[in-house]
Amino acid sequence: MIYLDNSATTRTLDAAADAARTYMTTRFFNPSAAYSAAAETEKAVEAARARLAFALDAKPEEIVYTSGATESNNAAISGALKAMRGKGRLIVGATEHPSAYEVVKAYSRQGYDVVEAPVDSTGAVDLAALSTLLTEDTRLVSVMQVNNEVGAVNDCAAIYRAVKAAAPEAVVHTDGVQGFLKVPFDAKDCDFYALSAHKFHGPKGVGALYVKTGVRFAGGQAEDRRSGTTNTPGIMGMDAAVADYLAHLEEYRKHMMACKLRLAKNLSGIRDVLINGPKPAQGAPHILNVSILGVRGEVMLHALEAREVFVSTGSACSAHKKGKNRILTAMGVTGARQEGALRLSLCPFNTLEEMDAAAAIIAEQAAFLRKYKRR
Ligand code: PMP
Repeated sequence: MIYLDNSATTRTLDAAADAARTYMTTRFFNPSAAYSAAAETEKAVEAARARLAFALDAKPEEIVYTSGATESNNAAISGALKAMRGKGRLIVGATEHPSAYEVVKAYSRQGYDVVEAPVDSTGAVDLAALSTLLTEDTRLVSVMQVNNEVGAVNDCAAIYRAVKAAAPEAVVHTDGVQGFLKVPFDAKDCDFYALSAHKFHGPKGVGALYVKTGVRFAGGQAEDRRSGTTNTPGIMGMDAAVADYLAHLEEYRKHMMACKLRLAKNLSGIRDVLINGPKPAQGAPHILNVSILGVRGEVMLHALEAREVFVSTGSACSAHKKGKNRILTAMGVTGARQEGALRLSLCPFNTLEEMDAAAAIIAEQAAFLRKYKRR
């Protein structure tokens, strides 16, 4: 099997699964309980929190654990707006993930003025266009760090500066799901940051939200920023995955980029294959989006599946929806180019050999399927 759908989810590391198991079986205590065995579990969770904070250049108390990035995005947007007085403008990137995009959009029904920040042809938010949208009454700007379908990297530092200069009251939320650990990021460049463990070899159903000190945020009950029994297996599983990534940070980033460049070069050799999004060397190291003209993405996906190569036509969240791909449309990628789009997403454990083998299978299937193209 060649698994090239790591932006949808990754295989959980054995060390992460082992850690989760330990906190389900032997060290299962509720960290808020009063006996000393529970205090040990609490200590472990606090050490995990400190490591996660370190990875973001943040402070431990700025980390709120969640059930994943869908919750983190929801909590950031609704928690920030709940804590503010008065309505105003909300700006959402045109290519945001539905878990941020739909939440912001829905506020228009409550009297907010919701506008979209357009992206350029590479899928990155157009900073000049965003700047013209910033008004004094802007309350929130939600722009992702890395786009999950094409790997475009947004200039979060410049976006943060522009927002704070034009609308000092506004908060900036960054969906960091596809960028965390893969592309450098410093929490000083946002007010909120969402991440999810299963995108970097941790377990599913656990993630975090960074909330900058001093930024008003209405979370769970009373003083709690998030209610509920602490998910110790998830948190400790995620911590093992963070620890592994941090121990190999540059090596993992370099290796994924080397694989991506090799794959891009191999695929560019196939007739009528176009790369969507940024130039491969400029995007995130793990996401490559290509269009194989004349072959529908779903048809290619299933042909590759039969050869045990797993890819996607877009994000899993939009893969089952009929009609247009919102992300590619926003970039101006339409028609046959949109229909033929495939997303290939990598992890540090893919190999250069896999990049050669996958490209050879794609070339073979493209030649085969094009013979049956309706004219
Ligand atoms: N944001 C982005 C950019 C994503 O790619 C995803 C996962 N597809 C999410 C948010 C949602 O993350 P989770 O699965 O943890 O809810």
